[in-house]
Amino acid sequence: MGLVNTKKMFEMAYKNGYAIGAFNVNNMEITQGIIDAVAEEKAPLILQISRGAREYAKNSYLKAIINVVVEENPDIPVAINLDHGDNFQTCKEFVDDGFTSVMIDASSKPFEENIRITKEVVKYAHARDVVVEAELGQLGGIEEDVVGVDHDDVGKHLADPNQVEEFVNKTGVDSLAVAIGTSHGAYKFKKEPKLAFDVIREIADRLPGFPLVMHGSSSVLKEFVDLINKYGGKMPNAMGVPEDAVSKASKMAVCKVNIDTDLRLALTAKIRQVFAEKPGEFDPRKYLGPGRDAIKAMVKHKLHVLGCAGKATECK
Ligand SMILES: [Zn+2]
Repeated sequence: MGLVNTKKMFEMAYKNGYAIGAFNVNNMEITQGIIDAVAEEKAPLILQISRGAREYAKNSYLKAIINVVVEENPDIPVAINLDHGDNFQTCKEFVDDGFTSVMIDASSKPFEENIRITKEVVKYAHARDVVVEAELGQLGGIEEDVVGVDHDDVGKHLADPNQVEEFVNKTGVDSLAVAIGTSHGAYKFKKEPKLAFDVIREIADRLPGFPLVMHGSSSVLKEFVDLINKYGGKMPNAMGVPEDAVSKASKMAVCKVNIDTDLRLALTAKIRQVFAEKPGEFDPRKYLGPGRDAIKAMVKHKLHVLGCAGKATECK
């Protein structure tokens, strides 16, 4: 099967109480680590490319790698999503380029303006069988050039279920990233965060069956932060969203969970370890390889946290 959009994945995820992992890719090793994990665990997959990733690696290279992923794994449903498209033009380019999902993030604009832009993207994308994710409310932290509210203020900027209902009905959007207390980056919080499960529940009551998306949902796994700090890095006080909270949200209306920071940490930790233990190492395969293995192990674990391991067949 070729690339798919996320319709069936979200339908099954909602119905059966799990979430699909959406992993950001920047290069070959990261992509291989992810797909090896997904293939072994038989999970559906969303790969994401941000505008930053496109600038770094060029879309043509990333698309070629993803095409190989699809060809070599006919049993795994794979969707490809633009992460944080900033305007209609960017989203249009990615739709024209064969992406099966685009996110339009006009959340920094006034509510009515966000509706207008999102609606325009939905119209263009739906005519081409591409699904659209939008964003409402203010997420915390910094993700590439996406700057949100201060990490410790995320609790004050939660999504308003009343607005969510109006937004979804007016735009016809397929899924929505809502602020429920998560935050982008590796320094999400100073103390353990509480996700707003009541907000998720209320949205689910008002919009039964409508899929929500969690951004900024890496757990900033201690194992990798400790390795980074042990081998010459400096990431004190890094903190993410606890996995039990991610797991709980996945059983509710959350159908897509974005993971980027945890991939970066796994790769960085392993490379640091190799360089520290073998200062003479200069073969990229000898440090990128272990990094790729670490990503694979981390993703396999995540698929169980999200509950989507073993669900590839039902999402086809
Ligand atoms: Zn995001």
